[in-house]
Amino acid sequence: MSGKTLSYDFRINALKALRDCLKKNEDEILEALSKDLGKSSFEGYATELGIVYEEINYLTKHLRKLMKPTRTKTPITQFKASSYIIHEPLGNTLIMSPWNYPLQLTVVPLAGAIAGGNTAIIKPSRYSQNVSRVMKRLIEETFPAEYIALFEGGHETNTELLALRWDLIFFTGSPNVGRIVHRAAGENLTPCILELGGKSPVIIDGTVDMALTARRLAWGKFLNAGQTCVAPDYVLVKKGYAEKLIEALKKEIETMFSSDPLSSPDFPKIINEKHFERVKGLIAGSTVAMGGKADESSLRIAPTILFPVKETDPVMNEEIFGPVLPVLEYESLDDAISFIRKREKPLAFYIFSKSRSDINKALSSLSFGGGCVNDTVVHLTAPGLPFGGIGNSGMGCYHGKRSFEAFTHDKAIMDKALWLDLKVRYAPFKGKLKLLKMLMR
Ligand code: NAD
Repeated sequence: MSGKTLSYDFRINALKALRDCLKKNEDEILEALSKDLGKSSFEGYATELGIVYEEINYLTKHLRKLMKPTRTKTPITQFKASSYIIHEPLGNTLIMSPWNYPLQLTVVPLAGAIAGGNTAIIKPSRYSQNVSRVMKRLIEETFPAEYIALFEGGHETNTELLALRWDLIFFTGSPNVGRIVHRAAGENLTPCILELGGKSPVIIDGTVDMALTARRLAWGKFLNAGQTCVAPDYVLVKKGYAEKLIEALKKEIETMFSSDPLSSPDFPKIINEKHFERVKGLIAGSTVAMGGKADESSLRIAPTILFPVKETDPVMNEEIFGPVLPVLEYESLDDAISFIRKREKPLAFYIFSKSRSDINKALSSLSFGGGCVNDTVVHLTAPGLPFGGIGNSGMGCYHGKRSFEAFTHDKAIMDKALWLDLKVRYAPFKGKLKLLKMLMR
């Protein structure tokens, strides 16, 4: 209401301050990520800090252009006028984030909120408390509380925050809590961006080199010990190639995390005991082809491959969100496509194939948030690509220019000249229809 957040100078300085406070506290942030999730400094930088910097850099570089009103066409019937869109801040925004990428999934939306000229209240997950604590201190030291504030706490805090009236709720988390958020937002007709999850499938038809396929698949699956919203959830492999794939996966996993992944410094842990037990339960319901071991004291579960797997196994009936990869076989591409289409629309989809026609068929017949051809997860690193789900995996999107759009309203203006006033539109209409028909064909 004070108008302080509106100017270009204010926004750019806030983005720079955000970047500077992260830069100055990198060690502490990486330490907190290691405490909460056992992330190595490399992984913490690559998947959290690095992505946040890229987003802030993009917004900083393009902010002036993004803020400028966008000119659009004016119909001849409205001569003489100009039409333009003012990118107006939404106002006071609520950002709720999950624990799996606690820094990235909080600060990337925050950068969008700042670039859009909004104020923000942040509510990170209670589970990643070390990162939350660092973020709280940094936010308090960097921004006045009436501009950006962070609240720690659990469901009660969320419930209280959701009962308030916001101009936008930006929520990242599970589809179940997404429903609660959407319902609460509905009370005030508050717009929502819901970044949710689900079971993201991979199709492997055996035409791509198996070692390369396995390496890219294992990387995306076991990043953050599988606790990634766009992690490959399950694999559909063409009949006859499952054994070859599993052999290749075993080799790649051993190269990445040694023959004893439970003690690898590069392999993260499960966030807490509740999830540790849940993921172990999913393993117990199927046949283990590799891994399956767990260490309760460090909350680590070794990279695990399940094969053969039935559609009815517990692991196929919820988002895994852990280092467990079920492998199922398919007969034809049509079968694989209909298997996926029977389920909720996933957040991500991946296909490994050399056949352009099969790739195109899968991409055009499946509905999903985003994905990769011949790789996994990396689509979310491209600032030009929107990141978001569809249906059960979410609504709305962000990253790069889409972050700015997510946090602004496109206010549509037609600006009329005063020196001319075409009389056609005014009654009486007698004798004017012919001219109207010529103008509006
Ligand atoms: P979650 O939905 O349990 O929690 C997310 C947030 O909601 C947390 O801040 C939590 O405190 C809060 N919350 C939990 N229960 C609540 C309730 N009953 N009422 C109000 N608030 C509540 O999700 P999570 O376990 O933190 O994260 C895992 C899920 O998030 C997975 O489904 C994953 O796919 C999804 N995810 C999606 C993205 C994405 O970008 N699309 C990214 C990461 C995670």
